[in-house]
Amino acid sequence: MTVVDWTRLPLARGTVDRAAHRRADPRTLVDGWADSSTRLVLVRDGRLAVHADDAGTRLATPAPQDVPHLAPGRAPDGTVRVFLGVGADGGAVHALVLPDTAGDVDIEGVPTGPADPPGVIWSTLRDVGHLLDDEGALLGATAVGLAAWHERHPRCPRCGARTEPATSGWTRRCTADGSEHYPRTDPAVIMAVVDDDDRLLLGHATHWPARRFSTLAGFVEPGESVEAAVRREVQEEVGLPVGEVTYQGSQPWPFPASLMLACTARATATRITVDHDELADARWFTRDELAAAVDAGDVLLPMRTSVARALIEQWFGGPLGPSD
Ligand SMILES: [Zn+2]
Repeated sequence: MTVVDWTRLPLARGTVDRAAHRRADPRTLVDGWADSSTRLVLVRDGRLAVHADDAGTRLATPAPQDVPHLAPGRAPDGTVRVFLGVGADGGAVHALVLPDTAGDVDIEGVPTGPADPPGVIWSTLRDVGHLLDDEGALLGATAVGLAAWHERHPRCPRCGARTEPATSGWTRRCTADGSEHYPRTDPAVIMAVVDDDDRLLLGHATHWPARRFSTLAGFVEPGESVEAAVRREVQEEVGLPVGEVTYQGSQPWPFPASLMLACTARATATRITVDHDELADARWFTRDELAAAVDAGDVLLPMRTSVARALIEQWFGGPLGPSD
């Protein structure tokens, strides 16, 4: 039964014209700011500015004239601008990555401050990605990923000198040797491992909140295919040999730079040997067992934005757990 549309994963539903040929033009960001049809996606401290009200949850996309205090020359020092492309409405879309310098925090520790447009809240893509519309999810994932990359790459990996944004925010250039550096995307496999009785293997990582269970996952290493990475990770984490591996779909997971490659994998044995470096626990579940454990609160499923949730629900045969 098809439960999950693998072409419409929560963070991989939309399309946007990235108009990459315009990135090299230094006028692209300048002219875009002067154009009232331009929309801005705001990121700070890894969070997106969103509106959440009776009309739903959506990206806040103010026009430049709505946020004159964020204009070039007036925005906080360290603000990074990125040309994300041309939206469905024909206007340019820029990301504004604001430095986390305002210092003011609300009761939950979330930054607030003078840079906030009226009426926005700052939310993580993990929490709201599945609630945004298709274009909003895509723009949000792109903006959050680029924000994380800029934040983590202030220095040249070749000589250690300072780098600064270039190419409309799509590269960073070394101020000493001029070398150009590109945003990273790190492939990771995530797999629904099933046995011959069609039970699903879920694990609990040592650093997770209590009762959280999810599919196994890990980074693809140099020299590995997707299939080889699946087999190695399953062997390392739970000591199980894997036969057939089938690719299902992918979505970005920009925390900070992963591309999740979802697979199903058939274990050819059932005796689990947990590697306690990474996992605290791993268990086989029948559908009835997992449904009962979720209902009882003994198992907390991964969040709805995640490809893990899609893999679990595809195996289960329908939605499972709270509809958050
Ligand atoms: Zn350098």
